Amino acid sequence: MNRILIVEDEEPIANLIRTALEGPDYRCDWAADGLTAADLLEREPFDLALLDIMLPGADGYEVLEYCRSLEVPVIFLTAKGTVEDRVRGLRMGAEDYIAKPFELMELLARVETVLRRCGKTGRVLSLPPDIEIDTAARVVTKDGVPVTLTAKEYELLLLLLQNRNIALYRDRIYERVWGAEYLGDSRTVDLHIQRVRKKLGLEKRLVAVYKVGYRLEV
Ligand code: CA
Repeated sequence: MNRILIVEDEEPIANLIRTALEGPDYRCDWAADGLTAADLLEREPFDLALLDIMLPGADGYEVLEYCRSLEVPVIFLTAKGTVEDRVRGLRMGAEDYIAKPFELMELLARVETVLRRCGKTGRVLSLPPDIEIDTAARVVTKDGVPVTLTAKEYELLLLLLQNRNIALYRDRIYERVWGAEYLGDSRTVDLHIQRVRKKLGLEKRLVAVYKVGYRLEV
């Protein structure tokens, strides 16, 4: 189940998208303006945002920057379909761009592709050559042998894997895994990183990034 945020000020379009996506694979939330979108992004863990560009409050480009800081991939969904707008959106880091009007089948295909590319879908995630995570069963194996992780260790591993090769800030990790604001003096993240490293033999691949946090190298 992936969580998708629809940011769209025209309710009929938002409803159409929601109806097309919602089911066993996706759960959707809707924000009608940029500021509500930022609030929701702050509070809830989304796997993808579908962003309109022309919005009341903060526009789609501003919401895109916010999404990027939270490592939420973005697909722009907009009537502003000129080449310049398309290039601007992609340059700023959007994963894809769909011009209105669009076919729902196309939307579904693009959502699937982006989620897959960003490692946010699929039952089994792998960390080659030896580690696999069955996200439906919440089972982690190393060389085919199950490894017991606590709930927080598991969520930490999943977060790192979903953001493979990206340096994650310690406070961001803390907020995402523990769901609370990081107060700066906690050793919780470091201790859990050490345990995950040891249990899975990730000493060389789960690296500390000076003054930032950690990066899982894949
Ligand atoms: Ca609009």
